[in-house]
Amino acid sequence: MTEMPQTRGTLTPDRPLAELTWMRVGGPAEWFFQPADTADLAAFLAALDPALPVFPMGVGSNLIVRDGGIRGVVVRLGRGFNGIAIEGERVVAGAAALDAHVARKAAEAGRDLTFLRTIPGTLGGAVRMNAGCYGSYMADVFESARAVTRAGEIVTLRPEDLAFAYRHSALAPDTVITEITLRAPGGDPWALGAKMTDQLAKRDESQPTKDRTAGSTFRNPAGFSSTGRADDTHELKAWSLIDAAGMRGARRGGAMMNPKHPNFLTNAGGATAAELEGLGEEVRKKVYDSSGLTLEWEIMRVGEPAPD
Ligand SMILES: Cc1cc2nc3c(=O)[nH]c(=O)nc-3n(C[C@H](O)[C@H](O)[C@H](O)COP(=O)(O)OP(=O)(O)OC[C@H]3O[C@@H](n4cnc5c(N)ncnc54)[C@H](O)[C@@H]3O)c2cc1C
Repeated sequence: MTEMPQTRGTLTPDRPLAELTWMRVGGPAEWFFQPADTADLAAFLAALDPALPVFPMGVGSNLIVRDGGIRGVVVRLGRGFNGIAIEGERVVAGAAALDAHVARKAAEAGRDLTFLRTIPGTLGGAVRMNAGCYGSYMADVFESARAVTRAGEIVTLRPEDLAFAYRHSALAPDTVITEITLRAPGGDPWALGAKMTDQLAKRDESQPTKDRTAGSTFRNPAGFSSTGRADDTHELKAWSLIDAAGMRGARRGGAMMNPKHPNFLTNAGGATAAELEGLGEEVRKKVYDSSGLTLEWEIMRVGEPAPD
């Protein structure tokens, strides 16, 4: 077995991951690493066998971990990485801070990060995915991030390093973000609180927020024009294509396209990752057959399939 570097944090072999994801599926991490602090993470990665892959994980709200688990080292930031400080118009937070906590704390201090209130991930995951809703995205407020590269270097990332696009950043998949600085517009704390309450209610009305999902399964196909005119370009919704393909409520084992919102792939009870991914692929095929459009996954599928 590969010799692993010393750490002041916690390193666990064969750690089950399913319980750490929203979907509650998937196999174990070969190694599960919770660093004590940024220096510990940097020293560990610098000394780690370069042949071992590294995967940073947040709270698994955008992931299907496959049934065979993840090879190499899964890094999950915990205590020590979830502080939130308000410094004038800047909000500085650890990458493990939950989006909802960041939004609430910012609002109390009169800074508007309300769009983060209903996104169930961590701030690190929000940067990686350029998370957003209600017309605002991480890219709109991101100033810089501190991160540790796979080689163990501590670096500062600026917007130009991340080339944000719709649900995408150019962050290297094995670079671990540890701290983020956001620049938030001002607002009245009471009004910001009311806005968040309203957004939560809207979300509960239209989406299965209490079910085991990973949010939107497929991206909305962008820039579609029904007339061919540039001024008519509008976004086609993935859910309506899935509906039109007759896949609302479709099932495979414990996997289901949610009847409340058909772009939410759901673990309806006892699903495997293979069933969830298989149903997703079936939906892509059915949508292609009925509309000629190819849906792209928004949920990340990571790790290895179960051995036969
Ligand atoms: C009910 C529900 C509603 C949702 N609504 C929205 C929405 O409105 N808008 C939206 O954008 N998303 C939404 N999502 C998806 C999801 O919450 C976001 O993509 C979120 O940003 C993922 O964060 P996470 O911490 O869970 O990351 P994970 O799912 O754990 O990981 C996602 C990606 O981020 C990377 N990552 C995580 N932490 C770090 C880190 N510290 N450093 C480097 N990389 C890291 C991982 O490697 C992986 O590539 C929703 C999900 C659910 C379940």
